[in-house]
Amino acid sequence: MYNTEELTFLTDLAPTELTWDEHRANADDMAVLYNKNIEFVKYGDRINGCSGYLKFGVNPDQGKLVLKEVWFCRVRHCPVCQWRRSLRMRAMVYQNIEKIMAEYPSHRWIFLTLTVKNPHVTDLRSTIREMNQGWQRMIQTKRFRGVVDGFIRTTEVTRPQKKGQEMDAHPHFHAMLLVKSTYFKGTNYIKQSEWVEMWVKAMRLDYYPQVNVQAVKPNKRKTLEQNQAALHNAILETFKYSVKPSDMLAHDDQGAWLHEITKQTHRLRFISDGGVLKGLLKPEDEISNEEMISTSEEQVETDETRIGFSYLPTHRRYVYNPKFNVYPETA
Ligand SMILES: [Zn+2]
Repeated sequence: MYNTEELTFLTDLAPTELTWDEHRANADDMAVLYNKNIEFVKYGDRINGCSGYLKFGVNPDQGKLVLKEVWFCRVRHCPVCQWRRSLRMRAMVYQNIEKIMAEYPSHRWIFLTLTVKNPHVTDLRSTIREMNQGWQRMIQTKRFRGVVDGFIRTTEVTRPQKKGQEMDAHPHFHAMLLVKSTYFKGTNYIKQSEWVEMWVKAMRLDYYPQVNVQAVKPNKRKTLEQNQAALHNAILETFKYSVKPSDMLAHDDQGAWLHEITKQTHRLRFISDGGVLKGLLKPEDEISNEEMISTSEEQVETDETRIGFSYLPTHRRYVYNPKFNVYPETA
């Protein structure tokens, strides 16, 4: 039906939109896996309908395409929807962090990663619940409250790659802690080994889990940009996918891990904030379609003209489709 030579791909006109092809192709693969099990066909169907066409406006200044209209399926683990949500979330955090730094200029950031022993994927939900309870206990300790004034925290689940552990899960917390300027002085300072102790105690564990702590400490020998880059990297790490598409699509297990992850994480909140940062983050499911379309805070104005692209499964790419064009006269 289509002759490749006559097709114009989205990436021909906007090379930076390559990620649309990649994420939409992942969504195709995920729909196939969902459709292997009757219980999950409803997700497969919705994902199949996700972002089938994209309508762009044209930025009058730079001639660049600006995304204006898409239908999102909003399935939690849909690769396209997850990607758009994480872009938006990062933009929100970047913006708010600047305000916070202005308000608390001498405060510092600590980047904490907390883990537990990998449970089998069928025990993931109860493990995450225990971790949430452990976190609550830890943040109420005097020691924590004495140095930390606010936090933002996300949950991430990865899939162990080791042979024989493919049906396990590796849940962990990424937390950005806003600490007082005195944190690095004397007894205020919490060493890595003490963070481990605090987490063990709060979780009531009988083993030492992996705990990683990094100070996002401005370095006087570095430029402002380099110092900001360290903080931005921490934000990137904290607000990436909650479950990597490649983990859900990997292995020849007919979608078994994906199906179980879907059940286990159903309606579990994966982000939280507190202290002076309370209210900074929006729950994932409250991010609107509009916010997933224009993922940055600044709105780029265009006229009513729309250039349409549709996803072509046979090519796993978006292709120019004048059927979806809109002209000002007809708008
Ligand atoms: Zn989607």
